[in-house]
Amino acid sequence: MTFRIRSDLDSLPVYVPGKTFPGALKLASNEVTHGPLPAVAEAIAQAAAGVNRYPDNAAVALTEELAKSLGVTPAEVQVGCGSVTLCQNLITVTSGPGDEVLFGWRSFETYPLATRIAGATPVQVALTGDAVYDLDAMAAAITERTRLVFVCNPNNPTGTVVSAQTLRRFLERVPDDLLVVLDEAYYEYMRLSPGHAYDALELRREFPNLVVLRTFSKAYGLAGLRVGYAIGHPRVLDASRSTAIPLSVTAAAEEAALASLDAEDELFARVAVLTERRDRLAARLREAGWPVPAAQGNFVWLPAGERTAEVAAGFDAAGLIVRPFAGDGVRISVGEEEAVDRVVEVAASVAP
Ligand SMILES: *Cc1c(COP(=O)(O)O)cnc(C)c1O
Repeated sequence: MTFRIRSDLDSLPVYVPGKTFPGALKLASNEVTHGPLPAVAEAIAQAAAGVNRYPDNAAVALTEELAKSLGVTPAEVQVGCGSVTLCQNLITVTSGPGDEVLFGWRSFETYPLATRIAGATPVQVALTGDAVYDLDAMAAAITERTRLVFVCNPNNPTGTVVSAQTLRRFLERVPDDLLVVLDEAYYEYMRLSPGHAYDALELRREFPNLVVLRTFSKAYGLAGLRVGYAIGHPRVLDASRSTAIPLSVTAAAEEAALASLDAEDELFARVAVLTERRDRLAARLREAGWPVPAAQGNFVWLPAGERTAEVAAGFDAAGLIVRPFAGDGVRISVGEEEAVDRVVEVAASVAP
């Protein structure tokens, strides 16, 4: 049978569900291993009682709460059904056939996928030898056709962060009508030295073409509820909002996000435990012979290159589900404490 399906989408990867098996430790999706805090579970249960009603399409309560805590106006915040859909909205409002969307590579898989769904052309600029976004090379790759730039910081899957100085220099070089999206999905896990640290919200005041993306999926532990947000210029976000799937942020997601903002102290205490574990895991992997780049997310990166499939198979056999990226490396989420020794043991047995 043939159907009238867009042929330019034929080569999109077909979604393959993540595998799992009993007793396996899931370290493949950068999820938080803790379940929701009691107050958050309670907020979700209360929202469940109202699912006969549509949610508030504008997520006003959450938008206002975020605006207050970020020190911006509500018009400068867009709440979305996960920051993945905000990436899509921003591509939709800027880019179509013939336009280019620029980002580093290897990076977040949504960028090329959503770009191609929009009919636009992904332009991928290789990371530096240290697996960091190469912003100088990206600035040089901007053309007449470039409509959107993604900077993933920390970069998924390598975990690295660009320095404050390079980021500023890049923003100074980019034309001021070209949108730059700084994807900070792992913002809460960054532990940067003062010279390296930057403040995205401050940069945004100076560079109005900067849009910052954050999410409740990672540090806030709400991956299953789908809620993230963008901080940007009202004109950009008005356009972006108009392309969002209507009513896609559920009341449960909104209420859980609000309860999570209230519980930030507890959640950030978990983040602190995790970043300490991450640093320890990365150090031990380096001792075991792996050149693990600076890890600033809730995961570590084994640059296994051509050996990626073999290395991932070693983890699989040990009951550890990790995320291989063919030809580049293996991303391992920092999970429970028990996982640390097991990850190091397998990694050492397949070290370069
Ligand atoms: C996990 C992740 C997101 C967030 O996705 P949600 O849709 O909010 O769950 C965004 N960007 C990157 C780079 C990520 O790794």
